[in-house]
Amino acid sequence: MPIKKRPAPRPETADDGQVRGRFSRTRLWLVDMDDTIFNASAGMLEAIHRRMEAFIAQRLGISIEEAQRVQKDYWRQYGATFVGLERHHGINPQEFFDAAHDFDLVPYLKTPTGKGRLRAVLKAMPGKKVVLTNGPGKYAHEVLRLLRLEGVFEDVVSANDMRLCGLWRSKPDALLFAHMASRFGAPLRQTAFIDDNPNNLMPAKALGMMTVWCRGLRNALPVSAAHPWADLVVDNLDELVRSLPKKSA
Ligand SMILES: [Mg+2]
Repeated sequence: MPIKKRPAPRPETADDGQVRGRFSRTRLWLVDMDDTIFNASAGMLEAIHRRMEAFIAQRLGISIEEAQRVQKDYWRQYGATFVGLERHHGINPQEFFDAAHDFDLVPYLKTPTGKGRLRAVLKAMPGKKVVLTNGPGKYAHEVLRLLRLEGVFEDVVSANDMRLCGLWRSKPDALLFAHMASRFGAPLRQTAFIDDNPNNLMPAKALGMMTVWCRGLRNALPVSAAHPWADLVVDNLDELVRSLPKKSA
């Protein structure tokens, strides 16, 4: 008996029409930057991590190997290394941002669709767009400027803006997402959050936001076509925009 070839998994997780109809009525898009808007895994993140490790090794008086472990542990635990360094070692986040992100970014900015195309794709998304990145503000604004995306986003919420209720709270802290919804005044059900890290989607989904896992630009992702916290799975923003209905359903 011939073996039936199974169809390739589709990048969907729920009823297509219903999900896409809901996305077409989005009033607020919260958009991650690294590996969502551009391919940070193509060198940028490596350049940043080398600087992070050197800073941590010097400040904590440990080897580069130990610093790598500390960096990864805090990133896993808090979603951003600076949060762990501040909470456990009293290191001023701005000092860390300057050490890790202040360098020539030009060689590292590559996009899958070209800069003009990327701008057109983002502009085609209905509603207000806001960048939500765990990276520092100076870095985020410089990346957006070099990608020719100035004026596309209503605002940029960066690591510098993540001091809430007496603590630094980066993605995926649930309080940050609740704060974003009230700050920009969009109904939760008409707010969509896009990120390459599926772990960041959970609090947004729990609040009632729509979630998109943008998985195509990031290195070393597990092979999966779905995720329990993702309403929609796409490889890049271009695919997201192409998949939205032309008119509200
Ligand atoms: Mg990212």
